[in-house]
Amino acid sequence: MIDIASPLRLRLDAGALVANWRWLAAQSGGAACGAAIKANGYGLGARDVMRHLAAAGCRDFFVATWAEAAALMPLPVGVSLSVLHGVGEADMVAACMLPVRPVLNSVEQVARWRAAGDGRPCDVMVDTGMSRLGLRIEEAVGGVLDGLVIETLLSHLASADEDSGQNARQLAAFRALRDAIPARRYSLANSAGISLGADYAFDLTRPGLALYGGTPRIEAAGHIRQVVFPEARVLQVRDVRAGETVGYGAAWTAPREACIAVANLGYADGYLRCHAGSGGATWNGHALPLVGRVSMDLTAFDAGAAGAIGEGDWLAIDYDLPVTAAATGRSQYELLTGLGRRFERIWG
Ligand SMILES: *Cc1c(COP(=O)(O)O)cnc(C)c1O
Repeated sequence: MIDIASPLRLRLDAGALVANWRWLAAQSGGAACGAAIKANGYGLGARDVMRHLAAAGCRDFFVATWAEAAALMPLPVGVSLSVLHGVGEADMVAACMLPVRPVLNSVEQVARWRAAGDGRPCDVMVDTGMSRLGLRIEEAVGGVLDGLVIETLLSHLASADEDSGQNARQLAAFRALRDAIPARRYSLANSAGISLGADYAFDLTRPGLALYGGTPRIEAAGHIRQVVFPEARVLQVRDVRAGETVGYGAAWTAPREACIAVANLGYADGYLRCHAGSGGATWNGHALPLVGRVSMDLTAFDAGAAGAIGEGDWLAIDYDLPVTAAATGRSQYELLTGLGRRFERIWG
């Protein structure tokens, strides 16, 4: 086999991932702290995220789909996995074969699981005000769940990243559900919900974003470490003269003689056009501003002050999630989950 060196890599800091989980676990007080690893671990690689967090003591993992669950088999010993999107008719074979719990989201799904689940435990999602997935409160307390073996009763906060009155309303609704519906555990908080305080933790928290370096609320700033570090190789270094333009649409004109480093990175890799105007990279301690538009597979950086930069050098792309989200107007979630398959993912 030919060994092809990737010109694009994500350096992934396992120590930072684990430190973030430990901080979130401490903030969760007496509650267990799980991990949302859907969308391939928010783009980092679900299997590796699970391995690192399981080794640190995390026991409860959540994916979106049965295909995501199947890709994680066999599970590490002692680990529990739940599928947030529940069981459609087409999922029942996978749901009955895999050692994974469905999160039942509707009366129909409850009936389906009762008929075929063989009395196995399940999780149940109740909607307390998001109108996305889950049984309505009236449905959940109306008897359809009687006799079901519920491992975890869940609800999901719609506005936990904001100081919204909706948070307290959802908390009150979830407390009432806890008193009405027997389950082994109750779980409400995502990353942002953990920062809302101990009241929101119940028995199990389910952070995603903050594990991977996102800061969902100001309370987490300074505690959450960056985990994902994109790096791209320089394909070509070229000199441009004052007045010459760079890239599509001639969107950048060199105000002086400049040295341009063209990197192997573009919007097809999830490095989106929104980075134009604010993006940058670091080489050897020098800050290189992005110039012009981002192309599909290429991006140009002004290496004016960097001197000896050359073909084949690696650029560290600026990708602090809260900073980059603020600069581009994109959500931290989009910035993470969009990073594409051409990145070689390297854990260190
Ligand atoms: C994605 C998800 C989470 C994690 O949310 P973050 O905001 O990334 O922490 C938790 N619970 C449910 C139901 C989810 O869908």
